[in-house]
Amino acid sequence: MSTIKGNLSARDLEVIWHPYTQMQTAPAPIGIVRGEGACLYDEDNNAYIDATSSWWVNIHGHAHPHIAQQLAAQALQLQHCIFAGYTHPPAVNLAERLLQVLPANQRRVFYSDNGSTAVEVAIKMALQYWHNKGQQRHKIIAFKNAYHGDTFGAMSVSGRSVFTRVFDNFLFEVHFLDVPTPDNAAEIIASIAAQQPDQIAAFIFEPLLQGSGGMVMYDRDGFEQLLQYCRQQQILLIADEVMTGFGRTGKNFAMEYMQTDADMICLSKGLTGGSMALGITTCTGDIYDAFLSNDKLKTLFHGHSFTANPLACTVALASLDLFTDPACAVNRQRIHDNHRQFLEELRQMSVVKNARLLGTVLAFELVTDNADGYTNQLADHLHRFFRAKRIMLRPLGNTLYILPPYCITDEQLAAVYESIRELVSQSFIREQRSKENKEKKESRGAKINKY
Ligand SMILES: *Cc1c(COP(=O)(O)O)cnc(C)c1O
Repeated sequence: MSTIKGNLSARDLEVIWHPYTQMQTAPAPIGIVRGEGACLYDEDNNAYIDATSSWWVNIHGHAHPHIAQQLAAQALQLQHCIFAGYTHPPAVNLAERLLQVLPANQRRVFYSDNGSTAVEVAIKMALQYWHNKGQQRHKIIAFKNAYHGDTFGAMSVSGRSVFTRVFDNFLFEVHFLDVPTPDNAAEIIASIAAQQPDQIAAFIFEPLLQGSGGMVMYDRDGFEQLLQYCRQQQILLIADEVMTGFGRTGKNFAMEYMQTDADMICLSKGLTGGSMALGITTCTGDIYDAFLSNDKLKTLFHGHSFTANPLACTVALASLDLFTDPACAVNRQRIHDNHRQFLEELRQMSVVKNARLLGTVLAFELVTDNADGYTNQLADHLHRFFRAKRIMLRPLGNTLYILPPYCITDEQLAAVYESIRELVSQSFIREQRSKENKEKKESRGAKINKY
């Protein structure tokens, strides 16, 4: 380990390639050396409020002592072990406890490494389920604008965008549906009906809240109708709760808002409290049973070197301890109540549109005349603005959202709201609008709206 102190960001620039980052133009990254509660601290001990939970993973705050202690104890016991032919207490304990909090129809836990792999596993399970049953169902349906991860299968079921464009020819075909509004359910169902529903293997969706697509909160009744139609058609339902799981939307899991149960659930992000990478795909007994056979070809041939890593399972168990403590639900309600008040204020602001709230997630758009080229510059400006205020907020295009760790204090939330008030009162947004109107004939940039 290097003992050189300070100037992390300069050293980083020599050797690191960051995700979703144009390295030629991006500002130097801020070096973060520790975290506590809802804050992260840089090398000069400046505190940054982590208002988006470090890419939506952190639910109980940074460097939580309970998670750290459990991790340290497990590290002295067993750090890793092959997971085919062998098992270990953290994996079994976690599966048992998770099945107790998940919807009751979920019976089996399949481990992998992250959200994208949890989705890959669900897609494979769905396709092979029908194969094992000797039925020809090869199509997958998903929502437009969806985000399910960055590996090829996960990209295939995600909305096509500037992020996938280079790879579009390599992605498998998916039938994309509009997200439900209060009056389009019949149309969506008709569009599925036109696809020969008896050939559709599965429908994958982010329940009620599309994250990376811009914190889109869509219509619950229409969604219910859609789920019921798919169920009638025996289309398997894959709930990607990688972001919505573990209390983010108010309920423990977003599918608890729905009457129709999913057949498979994908989990990651908050699963370990945001402390380590771990992915899980759960399924019903019916799906699991379709893989039981004397025929080896009916096996689910999927696994990763670090499948069910004992350290990762241990921190997930520690996170579950905190999650199932009643104090966690109290905190989530407190955040929701704070958000609700600020929501009313946002709705009065002329440069804010479509302010919305679900559980602990508050989102809105900044009014723009031209959602295309303009958005790039705006996003950069917003990012710089909040960095200077030491608030970690990363807009998705012109969408701003707050998605905090559940331990964030009322004072910290007030500071986040205040920074937004300051932003909105700035003349920049209006100036930018008129400037962009002049420029838009000359150049048409792409809308960058991931994370
Ligand atoms: C983040 C995310 C993923 C991908 O998870 P990774 O761990 O980043 O691979 C998949 N689905 C949803 C809904 C997500 O928000």
